[in-house]
Amino acid sequence: MSRATFHFHDTLTFFLPRRWQAGLIEHEFIWRASVKDMIESLGVPHAEVELIVANHAAVDFAYIVQPDDRINVYPRFDLVDLPDKVPLRPPLPAAPSFVLDQHLGRLAAYLRMMGFDTLYRNNYHDEELAQVSHDENRVLLTRDVGLLKRSLVIYGYYVRATHREPQLVEITRRFNLPTHAEPFKHCMKCNGLLHPVVKAAVLDQLPDGTARYYDEFHRCQTCQRIYW
Ligand SMILES: [Zn+2]
Repeated sequence: MSRATFHFHDTLTFFLPRRWQAGLIEHEFIWRASVKDMIESLGVPHAEVELIVANHAAVDFAYIVQPDDRINVYPRFDLVDLPDKVPLRPPLPAAPSFVLDQHLGRLAAYLRMMGFDTLYRNNYHDEELAQVSHDENRVLLTRDVGLLKRSLVIYGYYVRATHREPQLVEITRRFNLPTHAEPFKHCMKCNGLLHPVVKAAVLDQLPDGTARYYDEFHRCQTCQRIYW
């Protein structure tokens, strides 16, 4: 039996069983395995890991854990001061796009309202979510840890909060959304692109009174819904 010490930092301890909440784990193992496999076997999905340091040197996911290794696992690149960091994935675009699992419909509408390209259907299969996230470089937001352990998933995040408003606050902070928000860009309903329309063109489609108080209107190019 060999042994390696894992130290999970910051928000990653969320995924550990209660007895390991301090983040420190003496892990015993028999078989050779990659650091990615060991991290996930301890509960933490690879998609949330940004930096791995094995005995003072940054390593990638394929690193094979050696007996007596001391492995530090970080959720953010800036948490450790190390001359040579090894990014585990290409950096995320400044204005990220998203795909959400079926539990997060309301969050999807809010992200679209803020102008972020956000895919959501209430009938995506797990395979599809992982595939779309991979193919289109979308951040997979989910309440399913297992989904974030799928190897296809490059960018992913487990939404800790269970209610809509704290979820929005959480995601806004995690992905620094206000900097890149662009209201009236995506349709809340279908994620289609909104284009400005003149008031006269939509007058007959507005609820009573709306025309009196608003002068700027947008129409979804996909579902034709009107926004003001
Ligand atoms: Zn639409």
